[in-house]
Amino acid sequence: MSESLHPESTITPEDAQAIRDRLDEVASRAAAAAEKSGRPADSVSILLATKMQPVEKIRVALEHGFTLVGENRVQELTGKAEALADIPHETHLIGPLQKNKVNHALRVASCIQSIDNIPLAEKIQRRLEAEDQTVEYFVQVNTSREDTKFGIAPEEVWEFVGAMREFDRMKMRGFMTIGLPGKSDEEIRPSYQDLVAVKDRCLEQGLIDESMCELSMGMSSDYELAIEEGATMVRIGSSVFGARPTE
Ligand SMILES: *Cc1c(COP(=O)(O)O)cnc(C)c1O
Repeated sequence: MSESLHPESTITPEDAQAIRDRLDEVASRAAAAAEKSGRPADSVSILLATKMQPVEKIRVALEHGFTLVGENRVQELTGKAEALADIPHETHLIGPLQKNKVNHALRVASCIQSIDNIPLAEKIQRRLEAEDQTVEYFVQVNTSREDTKFGIAPEEVWEFVGAMREFDRMKMRGFMTIGLPGKSDEEIRPSYQDLVAVKDRCLEQGLIDESMCELSMGMSSDYELAIEEGATMVRIGSSVFGARPTE
């Protein structure tokens, strides 16, 4: 399946070296941002956002020691997983999940970062029961203050997290947000502060414990800012792999 998505995708040694150099740079800048925010350098994990990128590029990153991959589309996720089956890594789904794709997603993804509705969670729980499996997840929060389709509104997260406790096969890791991509630092910062506030409130109310406090926020253009605000996981695509092929 990955071959049909990217028929001609072979990369040169120079391309591979460029990917390794950019990975090293992202890792060192993320570590510096963590230290600047008073946290250990290794307290932030880097998830590679690999949508539309050929498996050859992803393989370079995995061979360089990175282990966390995020895909947006279930079809792409399952196709690439097959092509990368020989190299250990963990795959998260970071794009929206439709109920009819749940079975496929659960075959490959160890974590779903886009949980934002109860019918979806019910479907996932039922499938996990049938397969005697568990899955990790993040609650996706819409912090953009814009009327986008995806994510729970910050003021509704508290209730949502409470309702999710019924699904015992699903292990919550924390909260994920996309924020406002492409805007200025001053416009982006409140989104990330909203996610921290949502997490703090759930913790104070005893709805979650310290093991459910991860914050997946920040992308290529703003990951240092997101780390300064408290991100524990950043999702990096274009600044490592270059522009996506279809863009
Ligand atoms: C594409 C994507 C990213 C990474 O974006 P870049 O700007 O390429 O780093 C992060 N998170 C999600 C949900 C994405 O879809």
